[in-house]
Amino acid sequence: MTRSAWYRKIVMVVVTIGLFVSQIGGAVALSASTTPFGPERFVTNHATYAITTKSAYYQRIWRSAIRAWNKTGAFTFKLASAKAAQIKLTTATPSESQQLGRDVGLTEFWARHNYLFKINSELNPELLHNYGYSRSDDTHVAEHELGHAMGLAHNPSKHSVMYYENRSVGIQQVDINGVKERYQTPAGQAS
Ligand SMILES: [Zn+2]
Repeated sequence: MTRSAWYRKIVMVVVTIGLFVSQIGGAVALSASTTPFGPERFVTNHATYAITTKSAYYQRIWRSAIRAWNKTGAFTFKLASAKAAQIKLTTATPSESQQLGRDVGLTEFWARHNYLFKINSELNPELLHNYGYSRSDDTHVAEHELGHAMGLAHNPSKHSVMYYENRSVGIQQVDINGVKERYQTPAGQAS
């Protein structure tokens, strides 16, 4: 066993790091169809989460979004400690807000051979506040970020929680169908 063999092994592990951003709501409508998904997924249709923001308001927003997705039965988010959780849900600090620019939400993911193993999702309180997003708008942005956490991509239709500039639309049947299809489709295959 040589050192170079060890290095070679590291190089062969396929790690994907991705990023989704959600911008301020507005714009066009296209026809609704099953929400598309990327090649990445969790091994099964459940994952553990922890809400790490200190804001009581945004803790409630994340909890509402979790409840809304869990109610669909397509995927189950289970509460875990911040240390153990696969998915961390938080808010941007004021300095992170500056870097986010026009992005109201952001989800970063880490996958190995297209299997997700770590997700960080954050909401941008400063921008949500400045643009007068209501409590339900904020919840929709959180639901959208959780959509990415499960492996959903953007839906070009405005009638989807996964529309890239979504603000006023909650989880739709097309989104539930997208999650179901994602978990009936092997990792590595996108829709
Ligand atoms: Zn997005």
